[in-house]
Amino acid sequence: MSGLAIITEACIDTKDRACVDVCPVQCIYEYDPSQNILFSEVEAGSGIENTHQPNPDAIAIFADSLLYVNLDECTSCTACYQPDVCPVGAIYTEENVPDGTSNRGYNSDDPHVGHDHTFFVGHSRAVFAD
Ligand code: SF4
Ligand code: SF4
Repeated sequence: MSGLAIITEACIDTKDRACVDVCPVQCIYEYDPSQNILFSEVEAGSGIENTHQPNPDAIAIFADSLLYVNLDECTSCTACYQPDVCPVGAIYTEENVPDGTSNRGYNSDDPHVGHDHTFFVGHSRAVFAD
């Protein structure tokens, strides 16, 4: 599926959850170190909290310093990567994640222009163990 959302390095230690507020399917997760789970928003009206187990090696890299999109659940709805959502331009579509070879294609709010963000594509998949 094209248009899957990838959260990149600018989210680190920003993590204001603005993207969570606009995601209609609760597929943006945060890591809770105390319980060792990835959790997403309670579905509206359902009372059900969505959780996944993290891959220990992958979660150890950034832990709870940024949020993670579950790419198996993302519907490519486009809401979270609209320009007015993420204050630091951290979210890209999977096919448009900049690789550092050109300054073109970076979000205007991304403070890490020129960095290779492609690590976060594989990491987004690796961090969910189930
Ligand atoms: S593209 Fe839509 S479904 Fe996917 S993470 Fe963003 S808001 Fe959620
Ligand atoms: S809106 Fe951006 S900075 Fe805020 S939690 Fe989402 S990806 Fe991170």
